[in-house]
Amino acid sequence: SIIVFGSINMDLVTRSPRLPVPGETLLGYDFFTAPGGKGANQAVGSALLGRTTYMIGRVGNDNFGQELLTSLKVAGVQTDSILIDDTTSSGVAVIAVDDRSENTIIVVPGANGKVNHTDVERLEKFLPNASVLLLQLEVPIPAIIAAAEAAKKAKVKVILDPAPAPEKLPDELYSLTDVITPNETEASRLVGFEISHQETMTKAAEILLSRGVKIVVLKLGSRGVFCATASENFMLPAFPVNAIDTVAAGDAFNAAMAAAFDSDLSLKEAIKWGAAAGALATTKKGAQPSLPNKETFEGTLLR
Ligand code: ADP
Repeated sequence: SIIVFGSINMDLVTRSPRLPVPGETLLGYDFFTAPGGKGANQAVGSALLGRTTYMIGRVGNDNFGQELLTSLKVAGVQTDSILIDDTTSSGVAVIAVDDRSENTIIVVPGANGKVNHTDVERLEKFLPNASVLLLQLEVPIPAIIAAAEAAKKAKVKVILDPAPAPEKLPDELYSLTDVITPNETEASRLVGFEISHQETMTKAAEILLSRGVKIVVLKLGSRGVFCATASENFMLPAFPVNAIDTVAAGDAFNAAMAAAFDSDLSLKEAIKWGAAAGALATTKKGAQPSLPNKETFEGTLLR
């Protein structure tokens, strides 16, 4: 089974001809809510691929919290260990998008911001039967470190999606990480220089390895993946698809990589599964609605 320890958000999305300036009220023409949060997205991705998936995190005691739990359950995620926190709101991302696709986003972590070591206690009972722990950076870092430590002790593989990327991550977290999966922007922030061509990729991967991670998987969008370990570096190409919306491609990637490891597949196979799921996610709009299920996944790119 797969455990996800992380964020659960409701995205509140408005569309307007342009973005408002401070003090201005604008008329918009469209509004929708959509479940999100990198943690929840990865949990849904894993469950849709048919894996037993436990989500650990928090929602608020509000309508969004109930909706978020329901949408996770509908996707097949085990939600019994998600805490309903009475002290705060559910996490939300308030997203304004204009006609040029420029956006502004305000994230209010709410319940996600309250996640701490007591949530890790609820995670521990799932470790004996788990193969992978999926982590991202949308809940407080001390809790993430505690979760990674618990996984390490239980010999469960830790996959860290360093998103959103801070300029500095504690060394401790690097050394608890088996696989780190930044995109180019995130990798650039972590190492402190721009990543573009092969040489800078290799250099960035070397730095991340020297900080203690075992495997670096650099997600390069339509250019595929660059992977580095202590013993080898290699590129794997992206699956050619007609991409229309890349939202949650990275989450689909991490979920499918975890599913492959859950089936005892090799690193190369796991990256291939990740790339297939990432590519499929770009062919549909939205975050969770774009994540491929088992049938789509097995029926298409991996044939
Ligand atoms: P993130 O969503 O975290 O920014 P990427 O955009 O790199 O990450 O997407 C993750 C993975 O999804 C990529 O490494 C690639 O395998 C796949 N992917 C993303 N965009 C495309 C695309 N346009 N065509 C094919 N595969 C893609």
